[in-house]
Amino acid sequence: MDETGCVTDVQKFSVHDGPGIRTTVFFKGCPLDCQWCQNPECISPALQLGYRETRCVKCGKCAVACPEHAIKSTGKNITDSKCKVASGCTACVDACDATALEIAGKRMTVDDLLRVVLDDKDYYEASGGGVTVSGGEPTYQWPFVKKFLLACKVKGISTAMETCGFFNPAIIDDLVNTCDIILFDLKHLDSAEHRKLTGQPNETILSNLKLVHKRFSATPGKKFSVRMPLVPGLNDAYEHLLAVENFLVKTGIKDLVLLPYHSLYLQKIDEFKLKRKKLSIKPHSREDLDRIGKYFTKISVTFGG
Ligand code: SF4
Ligand code: SF4
Repeated sequence: MDETGCVTDVQKFSVHDGPGIRTTVFFKGCPLDCQWCQNPECISPALQLGYRETRCVKCGKCAVACPEHAIKSTGKNITDSKCKVASGCTACVDACDATALEIAGKRMTVDDLLRVVLDDKDYYEASGGGVTVSGGEPTYQWPFVKKFLLACKVKGISTAMETCGFFNPAIIDDLVNTCDIILFDLKHLDSAEHRKLTGQPNETILSNLKLVHKRFSATPGKKFSVRMPLVPGLNDAYEHLLAVENFLVKTGIKDLVLLPYHSLYLQKIDEFKLKRKKLSIKPHSREDLDRIGKYFTKISVTFGG
């Protein structure tokens, strides 16, 4: 049987994950657990069942279809201990005409993914775009993701990776060989604070950032970009942002993309019954972002989507 990877979504015509028109493939599984994660259903590597109450017409078809008798009347009442979604059961989702049930995660082969991304090759070529691997954390399933990226390269498709940076530095040679663009996320410069916000310290991430930047800057045709999710009250203090600027200057990096916080992910926490804290944070206003942008005087800062 062909090897498969676990994919949560394939987003076509994406314009925020690198230059031009892109197809972004979201892989499941991440070693970090950021409190503000915009794709919380991508953190666990396991397949997970989600339920959207607003779509449910209370027909009870899912309960009838469930071979494990895990559902009582509607998708709202699922006994997780009986549910076999992690082993590949899709009976209730298939029975639900209202699309109120969905599974986060789908096993796909490299050929499956390649077929989807090749559909839009003309758009990539016309716009300077390509394929972006995201997640979750793409390096979490590295052997599979590497094969997929190499297959894209063979087809002449430009490749980008969004990464949290928490990976074994032994794969850096692979990254140079498979990715044209690296979009590297930075979360917090203080390791204890980083652990509090993401579940992991930051030493490996900062060291990887420097190593990958060095390799990509020394390789013609490669691009390296640092992005930082900007979360009100958690990493947006003036002193912290100045420390970020100084760290980047010292590393030889002149640009930073700030990704403003938004709260769209909160409904996914309910949908997938995820056991995580729901932050009650107000996103920055336009004026806040203008003020924060002016903190930076030594590097160029832009705001991303
Ligand atoms: S995924 Fe399968 S076992 Fe789980 S609730 Fe649905 S039908 Fe039942
Ligand atoms: S089949 Fe779908 S719409 Fe019908 S009760 Fe189940 S979840 Fe709701």
